[in-house]
Amino acid sequence: MGLSEITARVRAAEAAAGRAEGSVRLIAVSKVQPLERVEAVLEAGHRLFGENYVQEAASKWPDFRARFPGLEVHMIGPLQSNKAKQALELFEAIHTLDRPSLAKKLATQVQARGAAPELFVQVNTGREPQKAGVLPEAAETFIADCRRMDLPLAGLMCIPPEGADPVPHFTALARLAAESGLHGLSMGMSADFEAAIAAGATHVRVGSAIFGARDYAKA
Ligand SMILES: *Cc1c(COP(=O)(O)O)cnc(C)c1O
Repeated sequence: MGLSEITARVRAAEAAAGRAEGSVRLIAVSKVQPLERVEAVLEAGHRLFGENYVQEAASKWPDFRARFPGLEVHMIGPLQSNKAKQALELFEAIHTLDRPSLAKKLATQVQARGAAPELFVQVNTGREPQKAGVLPEAAETFIADCRRMDLPLAGLMCIPPEGADPVPHFTALARLAAESGLHGLSMGMSADFEAAIAAGATHVRVGSAIFGARDYAKA
């Protein structure tokens, strides 16, 4: 696999779902990957990446931004409230807005900067205790709270439980988004991005299928 094959599969899945070409954005998830693999994907012309850790992103992306204009880096990992300010300096989008304390911090920073990133509310569609995200029944209230704080929301994000059929989770997220008047749907990873596109994903987050397996021991 690799970037060109995954890009082709995203375009084919868009067409199969009757969606407009380019309506799905491919986020290349570069967490823990060696710099030379990331650089190869940059050299191939890709400009949209996802990271999970603020520290790792801070050490990796300033240099790349200087060399590759037009870059966008999205935060897709859990975000500590005390890193909200740094996150706004590093990322064009945050996919993991999942609690009132983080919303408050972000709202304060957004006011101070006069600019907001693209924001996705993470929903814990599988109700997994160890996983972040608001519970589905709490999403509507949380979305209303964010809007009251003048936080512009782009959409919803989910990570279905490992080993489960992801499709009911994608469908549930799409329904919640429609009910809340949100267009963005961040869902689908290496193993299931085509199913996510069929269910309406606007952003798929694909790591290992583009870069190869992550080696956490070396990271
Ligand atoms: C790591 C990660 C991905 C990418 O996972 P792959 O299976 O390598 O495609 C996508 N989304 C989130 C939230 C992740 O943490």
